[in-house]
Parts: sequence; structure tokens; C-alpha cells
Amino acid sequence: MVSRVIPVETFDLVIFGGTGDLARRKILPGLFRRFLAGQMPESSRIIGAARSELDADGYRKMIADAVAEFGGEESSNTKALQTFLERLDYVAIDAKGDGGWADLAKLVRPDVIQAFYFSVAPSLFGDLAERLHTNGIATEHSRIVVEKPFGRDLASAHALNATLAEHFDEKQIYRIDHYLGKETVQNLMAIRFGNVLFEPLWNNHYVDHIQITVSETVGVTGRGAYYDRSGAMRDMVQNHLMQLLCLIAMEPPGEFEADAVRDEKLKVIRALQPIDNHHIVRGQYDAGPDSQSYREDVENPRSFTESFIAMRCHIANWRWAGVPFYLRTGKKMKARSSEIAVVFKDLGHTIFEGDEARHRNILSIRLQPNEGIDLQVTIKEPGPGGMRLIDVPLDMTFADALGDDAEEVPDAYERLIMDVIRGNQTLFMRGDEVEAAWRWTDPLIEGWEARNDVPKLYEPGSAGPEDAMMLLHRDGRKWRDIKG
Ligand code: NAP
Repeated sequence: MVSRVIPVETFDLVIFGGTGDLARRKILPGLFRRFLAGQMPESSRIIGAARSELDADGYRKMIADAVAEFGGEESSNTKALQTFLERLDYVAIDAKGDGGWADLAKLVRPDVIQAFYFSVAPSLFGDLAERLHTNGIATEHSRIVVEKPFGRDLASAHALNATLAEHFDEKQIYRIDHYLGKETVQNLMAIRFGNVLFEPLWNNHYVDHIQITVSETVGVTGRGAYYDRSGAMRDMVQNHLMQLLCLIAMEPPGEFEADAVRDEKLKVIRALQPIDNHHIVRGQYDAGPDSQSYREDVENPRSFTESFIAMRCHIANWRWAGVPFYLRTGKKMKARSSEIAVVFKDLGHTIFEGDEARHRNILSIRLQPNEGIDLQVTIKEPGPGGMRLIDVPLDMTFADALGDDAEEVPDAYERLIMDVIRGNQTLFMRGDEVEAAWRWTDPLIEGWEARNDVPKLYEPGSAGPEDAMMLLHRDGRKWRDIKG
């Protein structure tokens, strides 16, 4: 199979927060892989920027260590790594100060693609945007990449959008949600809109319900203070899960183009019905035999923040009327797994004697682990003895189907950064989408904060609180098993 890669033009990429965790763990190792794939034209440069007083060599050393630690197998390619490191530079800059900006202005070339990655706390986004302009660095063609969290409610997200809009046009702003960079998520669109098979069934006539699960085995280690102010709803649902829901539920866009796709996603968010409290379960992980409780992890013995949430949502439009969308996400769960499952209706009548089972087709889209898609279909159990039916998966695990090419599938961050360089905003959230998502989640969060709603405790290593099971049992359904 010959992979076709769209070439990229020469670029200068400035990473504010270039010494931080995200830059070292994801952004730079990802860029190194893109370099190995031939996607970094020779005169392109990556400039780290942060307050730490480092010179270019010190920064290269830091990134060499980061690539060795987080870069996977590719990091053993020392010759290539050396060439990659030569393309790095560093400027000591304080987002809130004046020092360093003149040095940066000298390094960034106005005649190549300029991208500025704001991998710093959101409270610094406004300072960076302003100083890039007052120091004459950004042009009308520059792009900025902003990280999550994008606000903590509608008011703060709106204020952040307004601040960025003072200096940059919406076409220049790339709000990153790395879930959208995952191969399977894009494949979801390919499956839906590139095959004749699925779209005719993609509605309330044939779909019984949809489940979206994002479960993690880790707790809040290291991010306790931030997480305790956010919780699963703000940290995961408002962005990642809602983005996945949009891609599953949206109408086919007229073309595969950034605004056409984002217009359709926005319509889904706007059609989400308010949720009744009976249809939300909030949980908090308890202490285990050898692990601390959530409250101990965040050092807040009176915390009411949820580390787990499950909910039943409805989309008020013709396609989805009456089809529940069950969403759940949590920490310290039994396995690390992200999956979207489209559960089709059962047949209602069987022509096969002795077949009492209710067979269902289920399309399962796995984001992690083992990215892939499988379709559960019913077939005859092999062998003699009559017509016994069994359910088997038609497995489309990419690693198997694509052979060696699957290893070259870029990870979410590297793909998204290359999209920034190419100027493709399709997989980035638009400002109005983010605000619409907060407009839907705000009343729910305000409701439980006002009531001092106490989350249900759940055992670490479980599938969440018992009430989450009941959410589906009450509807005569059950959650799919969480498999790592
Ligand atoms: P971090 O490890 O705390 O790094 C923060 C970076 O910002 C450091 O390079 C720091 O370097 C720099 N910095 C701090 N204050 C600065 C200032 N006044 N001027 C210039 N630079 C400054 O944070 P992180 O985990 O990398 O996260 C960065 C952003 O990505 C945050 O918005 C976070 O929410 C988001 N994010 C992170 C992850 C993740 O996995 N880490 C995942 C999703 C989103 P100096 O101290 O040298 O200035």
C-alpha cells in the first residue's frame, strides 16, 4: 500500500511552554516522528519559549532527553535525532514581561508559515496574543494553537474567545482537542460518509442507543489542584465526549471542509436537550486496598468533585428523536479504554427455530487501546446440528488490516500540528462550538454545585458506582464491558 502524504511548506513553530510537560511528552516527540516521516522541510524551525534561562544547546539537550524518554522506538535513530535537534532554538521569554520578545522577533521569519503553540496555562493566552502583536511578530497569516481547558464555564470561555479575537481572526485560531486527531475518530467519518452501508441505518429507525465510554485507570496524580476545581464534566465531557457525540450524531456536511463540518457539529450541540438529574450519576473513587481515595489524592477531605460521570442525553431532531446517548467517563476504572458503540435495534422477529437470543448488530469504534472498528454480526454457528446463531465481530483493527503502514499512523498531536501547518481547521473546535458546549453543561454543573450534591463512592478498579449501572438497567439496557 502506498501512503500519500500531503507535503508541508516551510514553517517556524514557536512553542510557548516549550519546557513543560506537554511539550516534552507529546509535542516534541511527535514533531520528531513527523521529521522522520519527511514532513519537516529543511529550513523549518521549532523554537521553544519559556521563562527558564536556557540557551539553544541547553534546550536541545532537554528535548533529546524527552525524545529518549517518550519518543518510542524512533528515538534510537540517533543520527536523525541529531539533525532534528539542529532545527531547534530557544528564547527565554516571560509571557507577562517584556524581555525576550525582541530576540523572538529576530528568529521568526515573516515569509514562512508561522505557528505559535500556546502550551501554557490559559491565563497567559491573552498576554501572549497581545505581545505577539505589540512586538510586531504575528502577521495576519500567523496561526495560534490553544490547549484545553478552554474556559471553565460559558462566561470564561466567552471572555477567552473575545481576548483572542482582539488579536487574531477565527481562521487563525486552532483550539486543540487531541481526541479529534485520533485515527479512529477520523475513520468514524470515513465509515459514515464513505460507505453506502451505514448512513441509511444511522437514525432512530435502526439505532437503539449509543454508548460513549472513556475510562482511565489512573487517578488524579499530579494534577490534583486543577482537577478538583474541574471534575469529570469540565475536564472530559464538555470537550472530548461532546466532540465524539457530535461526530456520531451530526448530519452529513455538504463537503469535507472545516466550516461545513463544524457547522454540523454545532447544530448537534444546540439540539442537545437539558438533562434531568435522574439521568446523571456522579461518582468519586474511594480508597482501595493499596491506593488512596480521591479526597486523599486531591488533599481536600470535603471535596464534592466527581471523578466519574455517567449520563443519558437526547438530541432533539428528526434523526435522533427517542434514541438515548449514554456517556460515561471516569478515573481509577477497571481498564483504560475509549469506545463508541452504536447499538442497532434487534430484529423483532426470528425465522430460525429455537433461536431465542436477541441478536443485535453493534458497530464499535475503539479509540484506545488497539484503535480499530468492529461490527458485530450474526452468523450460523459452524458445524452440523441445525441453524444455531452466534454473534461474531467483523474486526477491522487497523494494525492487522494495514500491516506495516499502520505503524506509520501518526499520533493525535503530531497529526493535528501538521494540520495547523497546512492550515486545515477541520479537526479543531470553533469558538462558537466551545461556547455552545458550555451553554449546555453550565446549568448541570451549577445545579449540583448549588445543591452540594455528594458524588457516589466507587471502588477503584471497578466500572464506576452501582447507580451508573442502574441508569441503563432502568431502560432495559446494559453498559458494554470495559475492556483494556
Ligand atoms: P507545565 O508542565 O506546567 O508547563 C508550563 C509551561 O509554561 C512551562 O514550559 C513553563 O516554563 C511555561 N510558563 C509558565 N509560566 C510562564 C510565563 N509566565 N511565561 C512563559 N512561559 C511560562 O504544563 P503542561 O502540562 O505542559 O500544560 C501546558 C498547557 O497544556 C496547559 O494549558 C494544560 O492545561 C494543557 N494540557 C496539558 C496536558 C498534559 O498532558 N500535560 C494535556 C492537555 C492539555 P517556565 O517555568 O520555564 O516558564
